[in-house]
Amino acid sequence: MPITSSHSLPFRIRVAVPVHLYDCFDYVVTEAQYQQASVGARVAVSFGRQNLVGIITEKLAPDAPIDPRFQLKPIQALLDETSLLDTQMLKLLIWSAQYYLFPIGEVLHSAFPTLLRQGKPYDLLAHTWHLIDFDAEAKLKSSIPQQEAYKILKLQPQGTLESILNLSGIQTKTLRTLEKKGIVKYELANQNFSPEPLQLSQMPLKANEDQQSAIHKILKAQHQFKGFLLDGVTGSGKTEVYLQVMHEVLKQGKQVLVLVPEIGLTPQTIARFQSRFHVHIALLHSGLNDAKRLQAWQHAQTGKASIILGTRSAIYTPLLHLGLIILDEEHDLSFKQQDSFRYHARDVALYRAYLHQCPIILGSATPSIDSYALVEQGKLTHLELNQRAGNAHLPKVHLLDLKTARKQQGISQILIEQIEKRLQRKEQVLIFLNRRGYAPVLICEQCAWQANCPHCDARFTLHLKPYQHLHCHHCGLIQRIPDACPQCNHTQLKPLGMGTAKIEESLQALFPDFPVLRVDRDSTSKVGSWQKINDQIHQSQPLILLGTQMLAKGHHFPYVTLVAILDIDSGLLSVDFRATERTAQLIVQVSGRAGRGEHKGEVYLQSLRPDHPLFTTLINKDYRSFAMQTLKERQLAQMPPFRYAALVRSQARSSEQNQDYLQQLVQQLKTISNNEIDIWGPIPAPMERKANRHHAHVLLLAHNRARLHYYLRSWWCDAIKTLPSGMKLSIDIDPQELN
Ligand code: ADP
Ligand code: ZN
Ligand code: ZN
Repeated sequence: MPITSSHSLPFRIRVAVPVHLYDCFDYVVTEAQYQQASVGARVAVSFGRQNLVGIITEKLAPDAPIDPRFQLKPIQALLDETSLLDTQMLKLLIWSAQYYLFPIGEVLHSAFPTLLRQGKPYDLLAHTWHLIDFDAEAKLKSSIPQQEAYKILKLQPQGTLESILNLSGIQTKTLRTLEKKGIVKYELANQNFSPEPLQLSQMPLKANEDQQSAIHKILKAQHQFKGFLLDGVTGSGKTEVYLQVMHEVLKQGKQVLVLVPEIGLTPQTIARFQSRFHVHIALLHSGLNDAKRLQAWQHAQTGKASIILGTRSAIYTPLLHLGLIILDEEHDLSFKQQDSFRYHARDVALYRAYLHQCPIILGSATPSIDSYALVEQGKLTHLELNQRAGNAHLPKVHLLDLKTARKQQGISQILIEQIEKRLQRKEQVLIFLNRRGYAPVLICEQCAWQANCPHCDARFTLHLKPYQHLHCHHCGLIQRIPDACPQCNHTQLKPLGMGTAKIEESLQALFPDFPVLRVDRDSTSKVGSWQKINDQIHQSQPLILLGTQMLAKGHHFPYVTLVAILDIDSGLLSVDFRATERTAQLIVQVSGRAGRGEHKGEVYLQSLRPDHPLFTTLINKDYRSFAMQTLKERQLAQMPPFRYAALVRSQARSSEQNQDYLQQLVQQLKTISNNEIDIWGPIPAPMERKANRHHAHVLLLAHNRARLHYYLRSWWCDAIKTLPSGMKLSIDIDPQELN
């Protein structure tokens, strides 16, 4: 029986449920529940046959007409007495769902930590186990688990979370037994935290002229929305600018949100903030367990944490008094989520700063072309730091022509001599190769057969360790190495090309007296192994560091004086219009690892195409000249950021299925969009077959962002509804990668 109000229409709330649908759903509540319900609070509802946790997005006016599409059901329970999201956060999430064309329920859910998504009570962590009988030792003689629990709790007079005790091997049932004996108690911890007065644990450095001017301009914009692009080479003192601006914002009792790339959240980064400010810092990254994440999130949401330091998803953390957003290494690709809800934390951050009317700093040594375009349009204020702070000098870059160079095992003779020289001087060398494994190709010497993955349009990578096998880096398939060529039966199968594991072997043979430390996903998969390597790097010993992308960013290697990129060309072969931008950023970022200490650094690039215009601009001039040149080219070609893009990706059982369906969608869009959208495709994706699925793309480009969104919205919702079975379809607004 529906419950009715005096208007004879039932009281209703609108709820976003975590399902892949674009609507919110209305539910019936009692009058008492209606009074109690707040927008932004959680509610338990049944949906189809599932029980789900939804978020209230609206309290409907009692006389609002009933939407005939939905069958009205009562809710199961209100889960929170108050809203968990501030109004700006709710606006930001709703905007995100509309902008990225992603289901509202799933977007809202992404703002909550897992435990709250599961419907656990908000004050879950407020309960801790306490010892109340401190002389119970004698009573526990018979049970070792009880003795263990007693010992641990005795050391923690302020109480311990159950999840942490469980992790230390103490079972909940043991605690319950102790509770019955009157030895321990499970109770609400004291949650009254008052903000601590701001104390500096370390004095600020004396800012140089560039830094001073940047700090001054940002502070002038406090309490209003203003975006800044802090553009300064590695080591030019960007972090010092952040710290000094933060100091002023923290002094006023406001919170600062700092976003860093996934790989950038190292202990050193955290330490720099901790050692300057004696305040509570909430860390939010993918490595947290559920309880830790909930705790950090609550510290941010309630204002207990003054600094919130996190990776991409931390942009959706509710904050009580946000006063400043900092996005470091703003060019980094990890700010863009590359699957399901494909938001870009940089763009979301700009809108969030606008909603909160606070300044935002985007910092980088290699700003994205997109951000330079915003500077040109007057939407960001450009702040330049032109010198390296302190004494460190910028490295000199040399280009080695691989066509003409004498080389041993893929390394040119000149580079070998240079490496030797540094090692003899007891300095460190960093060698960069973005390809893990032993060799990218296994080939038959006789008939040129190559080992290809049967499920992808890709070659197997040869790995020799921990055992010999072929591995497809695209679908994960692992196969044994054939004894003979399946085509001609010849038994001489040869590795071709080089991966990090092979170069490691070569370097070890060339420099037998020095350690070669390989850093890639294979060598650092064990917990603590990266920490071990990192410790070794920070002792002033000569060594060779060899690694992939993992080594390119954010790290501080004070003893590295030579950096080499062995295969810079691979980045230039891509069909992606952003390929040169990414390669230029990589060169500058990797180069930034050299010469950060007292010693001057040098950089060597090996290339088969040393006359590529990218190198000429980047080496003879600098990154900014390269960026300006690229902006001109993009404008000429009318590519982003000069037009707005959306990429539709589809997956099907066959190319034909993709083509048929996408052709039909393209026709529909052409009919409705008045020639305002330029439609490219459907075309097969750069790697068409991956894990036995066929991939295809349609790229959409338009001059007007609002118009593009206007047409896409209705078209996209229809497209999803008519999708044939066996196909998958996604849309990527402002795509960063075209694969
Ligand atoms: P970035 O963030 O641009 O890479 P950092 O802020 O890390 O640069 O600065 C690089 C180094 O220079 C650090 O060791 C830092 O302590 C030092 N530094 C920064 N600003 C100054 C300054 N004004 N005076 C002296 N040293 C500075
Ligand atoms: Zn063969
Ligand atoms: Zn594969």
